[in-house]
Amino acid sequence: MIVETICVGTELLLGNTVNTNAAYLAGQYAALGMNSYYQTVVGDNAERIVECVKLALSRSDMVVMCGGLGPTPDDITRETVAELLGRKLYEDETTLERIRDWFGSRGLHMSENNRRQAMVPEDAVILDNDNGMAPGILIRLRPEERARLGRAGAEDQTILLLPGPPEELSVIWENRVKPILQKEAGEVICSSMVKVCGRSESEVAELLDDLINSRGDVTVAPYAKTGEVHMRLTARAADEKTAKKLIKPVIKDIKGRLGDSVYTTQEDVTLEKALVELLLANHLTVTTAESCTGGLIAARLVNVPGVSEIFKCGFVTYSNKAKRKLIGVKRKTLDKFGAVSAEVVREMAEGAAFYSKSDVSVAVSGIAGPDGGTEEKPVGLVYIGVNVCGNIRVKEFRFSGNREKVRNQTVASAMILLRECILGYYSRLTFGEKENG
Ligand code: ATP
Ligand code: MG
Repeated sequence: MIVETICVGTELLLGNTVNTNAAYLAGQYAALGMNSYYQTVVGDNAERIVECVKLALSRSDMVVMCGGLGPTPDDITRETVAELLGRKLYEDETTLERIRDWFGSRGLHMSENNRRQAMVPEDAVILDNDNGMAPGILIRLRPEERARLGRAGAEDQTILLLPGPPEELSVIWENRVKPILQKEAGEVICSSMVKVCGRSESEVAELLDDLINSRGDVTVAPYAKTGEVHMRLTARAADEKTAKKLIKPVIKDIKGRLGDSVYTTQEDVTLEKALVELLLANHLTVTTAESCTGGLIAARLVNVPGVSEIFKCGFVTYSNKAKRKLIGVKRKTLDKFGAVSAEVVREMAEGAAFYSKSDVSVAVSGIAGPDGGTEEKPVGLVYIGVNVCGNIRVKEFRFSGNREKVRNQTVASAMILLRECILGYYSRLTFGEKENG
């Protein structure tokens, strides 16, 4: 099924509202194995909305529209779509009751305007809104509407109208739309996530080329995040058990090819969570010493509930003096090599662990820009040092982009290097033990 999104709202075009609905819906389509090729944003203008809906119907099976179902005069989606289809609007009793109750239970007066939200096109499925007033509206195109507006050869076409507020849109999608889609498909679509760190998207694409381009039962769709590649695996089958059975060997295959760089196969596990779990599992306390990231690494770690058991301290040692006074970097080293150097970062990693009595530390120093770069040390040059129980590793990075991007890449790379060093430390231990035994 081909689905596309039309977000209605002048505030989106002006940049006043970030289009999170489009991102949410896109994720939902992917999870359901629906194909989506276009997203449109259009202002609150009937003529242009009509243009967009016509175009969308000419190429997609399902057109999901969001926004413009409210009570104010600029909310025109419902009327515009009904007019395009040539359907009358009527006042839906049940919805009106629901809106009345909504106001009543809050002791508020319902204005005449709000009655508009109970107006729905004839012959449509009304999808109750558990978080607000305007219901979602699912319209199946009649044969004559399809002949006039539809995609050539399409069997079934639908327009789905959803309210703009994200918490209303998502609750209708989750509780009302998804069950309908799953039931109609007559099959279950299951998806799993594989998250990879420390490998570029192109590297992953190359290693998994045959899986990504396969026309088999399981689709593998990668997308890149800072320092990470996430892959959504989707399978369709008659029931959930069979779909999961199809996905399992593909996950195993991917793990086999990408090794330790697969850090989780769980949707809700972030890189920092995986890292904190690794530290917890090995009873390792951790400390950060940050220059150019100014505490961002510590902040990421502290995102994870339960981190207090292992997170000891975050030094933000921005100045040379702080590097010397707080974590014992030598003046001589700073003078000789400069603050952005492998030597200084090594001493930062050493000092951070020593002064906080931590098992593990991670230290960063770099030139985030936009100023301060030289030919020898350009903007984007970053050193990251990791200390695992006295074993120190320092790595040089050359990032590109603006200040924010350089800093974000530094944070991701620091967590990835820390994870890699811990895994390396324990695999050497295990290997050593085996050899001795
Ligand atoms: P309302 O009853 O609140 O007027 P509506 O269905 O008419 O709902 P809009 O008026 O278009 O929707 O948007 C209402 C609010 O929802 C906006 O102010 C904005 O905060 C949010 N919103 C709308 N569209 C989007 C979107 N695409 N992404 C994120 N938020 C959105
Ligand atoms: Mg509105």
